[in-house]
Amino acid sequence: MARKEARYSWGYRYIFKPEHVGASFQGYVAEHRLVCEIKLGRQIESHEVVHHINGKRGDNSPENLIVCSRREHYHADKKMQRTLKRNQRLSCKKVGILNQSGDVSTYYKSITEAAKKNGVSISAISRALQVGRKSAGKQFVFTK
Ligand SMILES: [Zn+2]
Repeated sequence: MARKEARYSWGYRYIFKPEHVGASFQGYVAEHRLVCEIKLGRQIESHEVVHHINGKRGDNSPENLIVCSRREHYHADKKMQRTLKRNQRLSCKKVGILNQSGDVSTYYKSITEAAKKNGVSISAISRALQVGRKSAGKQFVFTK
């Protein structure tokens, strides 16, 4: 049977690289570890963990990856889960945009929809809502 160049497990991407020191028995290495090795120019030790900053296991862009100890990783994941949960909770709240006279002129059924329609990220609107600042020049507010 022919070896596949890449395979997926639990959302992670693995590259067939049997010559790598960190390769599994079948010869695969997690792509996020390979990307970090190129980024840092050194080998990632077996006691080190590569964390996906945005929580997306399939996003192996160098800026989304950070190498940390197991202890640091435990805290990084806790923090990320809190952020994801908060964003999830916020994203289903109804929002609107205030016009110049202070009335809500545009209604959205969720932050997700508001973000999509205004070309702004969900986290940017969430942050703006929490501190009462404008996002993309618009004053978003929670509505009922
Ligand atoms: Zn992690």
